[in-house]
Amino acid sequence: MSMPDLKEIIEKSKRICFFGGAGVSTESGIPDFRSGDGIYSEEYGELSPEVILSHTFFISHPDVFYRFYREKIIYTGAKPNGAHRALAELERRGALNAVVTQNIDGLHQAAGSNNVIELHGSVYRNYCMECGRKYGLSHVMKADGVPLCENCGGLVRPDVVLYEEPLDDEVVARAVQSIQAADTLIIGGTSLVVYPAAGLIRHFCGDNLAVINKSPTYADRIATLVIHDSIAKALSNAVLP
Ligand code: NAD
Repeated sequence: MSMPDLKEIIEKSKRICFFGGAGVSTESGIPDFRSGDGIYSEEYGELSPEVILSHTFFISHPDVFYRFYREKIIYTGAKPNGAHRALAELERRGALNAVVTQNIDGLHQAAGSNNVIELHGSVYRNYCMECGRKYGLSHVMKADGVPLCENCGGLVRPDVVLYEEPLDDEVVARAVQSIQAADTLIIGGTSLVVYPAAGLIRHFCGDNLAVINKSPTYADRIATLVIHDSIAKALSNAVLP
């Protein structure tokens, strides 16, 4: 029997769940962490992104954190690519029930997806650590240095999960539920090395597991279909007219 192709798998699926990461947005111009030209290959003094984007570092050096964050993490001009658009189209057709993402860039919603489960939060939500007042991204971007609360002067932080911080229980529960309910799981643009997020795929018990990732992942050996290529190309060829 020959290997089914992605289009065939998608066409016979009723409840697809997509599980993705930074590789979904590289074709929108947002670098990932672990590709050759990803953020990890760049120099920021002696500090790795994992150190700068940690809770301890944020609290002790919010000025350096925010400099790095504005320079390397936020891409306000980025637009959804074919991968985001194809997933939104599958949801519109009623074939996909959820996008579970490790990304914080809001591009799935920008493409029109409604049920997006953001495991690591979103750069578009920010709040004061003292009084809880909420802020959009513009407050963070226009601040000169560290963004402070207009209300109480407290430190404003992004509603993103920093290294050392736990995932939100309710968000994880929604992700597990969507993965468990799926007949097909498509994993894409993720190195599957960031835990606990990467461990959530073990809850999948459906028929077809497709992996679309430029480099190999640990899920390749249990997948029905593995595509080591561009995710925007693979998904738009399979879904978009
Ligand atoms: P990662 O950087 O560890 O891995 C990305 C993977 O995607 C790599 O295996 C790479 O081979 C693959 N890839 C890159 N471009 C691709 C493409 N066009 N088509 C197919 N595959 C491609 O990313 P991760 O697993 O998501 O873990 C990194 C962490 O960093 C996550 O926690 C995420 O929250 C965060 N992050 C988010 C963004 C974002 O929001 N856009 C960007 C960088 C990092």
